[in-house]
Amino acid sequence: MKRQLYLFTLVIILVSSVGCTSLNFSSGSASGSSASSATSEIFAMDTIMDLSAYGAKAEDALRASEKEIMRLEKLLSVTVEGSEISAINQSAGNLEADVSEETASLISFSKQMSERTGGAFDISVAPLVNAWGFVSGYFTVPSKQTIDELVQLAGSDRINISGTKIFLEQSGMSIDLGGIGKGYASQRVIDVMKGYGINSALISLGGNIAAIGNKTDGSQWRILIQDPRDPELYAGKVSITDKSVISSGGYERYFEENGVKYHHILDPKTGYPAHSGLLMSTIICSDGATGDALSTATFVMGEEKAIQLWRSSDDFEMVLVTEDARVLATVGVADSFEFMGDTGGYTYETIER
Ligand code: AMP
Ligand code: MG
Repeated sequence: MKRQLYLFTLVIILVSSVGCTSLNFSSGSASGSSASSATSEIFAMDTIMDLSAYGAKAEDALRASEKEIMRLEKLLSVTVEGSEISAINQSAGNLEADVSEETASLISFSKQMSERTGGAFDISVAPLVNAWGFVSGYFTVPSKQTIDELVQLAGSDRINISGTKIFLEQSGMSIDLGGIGKGYASQRVIDVMKGYGINSALISLGGNIAAIGNKTDGSQWRILIQDPRDPELYAGKVSITDKSVISSGGYERYFEENGVKYHHILDPKTGYPAHSGLLMSTIICSDGATGDALSTATFVMGEEKAIQLWRSSDDFEMVLVTEDARVLATVGVADSFEFMGDTGGYTYETIER
């Protein structure tokens, strides 16, 4: 029995004028103005994060942003002993946990996203994520019986919220914000940076990219979207201003057992890694938390249901990459999307309203 972990943390590669080093502050921009820039690379929330900011207070903005990310990790991580999420999980079926307003409102938002996506996004899928070993790193294919039992524990409607009190109805239930936390964090980092007067920045938290404004030369940020079948190639490139670009796919984290690949995005209805015909879903939108939940959900839902959801919404655009080698971009992003998938053997289509 051979097991291997493949972890592609660099899902999206940034095309920018900034080189990302570990900690790099410089004063004076290329144009010679008094603006300064700062970049930093940190490891948090189980991923590499790159932050770049431009403006007089860039350095302070970055330090405060890093602090904010660490604060959120402590608050929301399922693996941090003493986090509010751990407290909720430990009290499952027994007691309600009193948490901060911030945690309560993110859980409440996650419940809404679950409802909006027909249960494809569900933070209460956590017992299954654990059983597959995606939290501990001890990967295993659970027995059919275990999966069937744990599927019964999933269901966001059984996460009760009353003000800041959270109660998971059944013992054994647990929640995991892994599918939304980085997108939420990117949004908070934007707030922090804006508080320091930053109006040009790029925030890359694993597969979650968020941009403030444009590049300092006034041109848009250009974000390369990886070919999920080949980390050296790209499916395309999207140009953005003040937007998030968030990708989910099985290629990000998976293990192999007896020649079969098992990835980390689970279909809450079956308890198995989602097999929807998609290799990747990328969401382009104005709110990181929304985009993060939707990228996970649309990957689970598959092409048809994802397109239905997009048609009934007006707050996101998307790029889908299918198993049968098609790249699809919704019409609202088509003008700012440059298809590059021909090198990987993909064809390109636009999805109309
Ligand atoms: P993402 O990379 O944002 O798509 O999130 C994937 C992570 O979210 C996984 O590593 C799990 O921790 C968690 N997760 C897996 N499946 C789901 C799901 N269907 N809904 C919500 N979270 C999930
Ligand atoms: Mg997500």
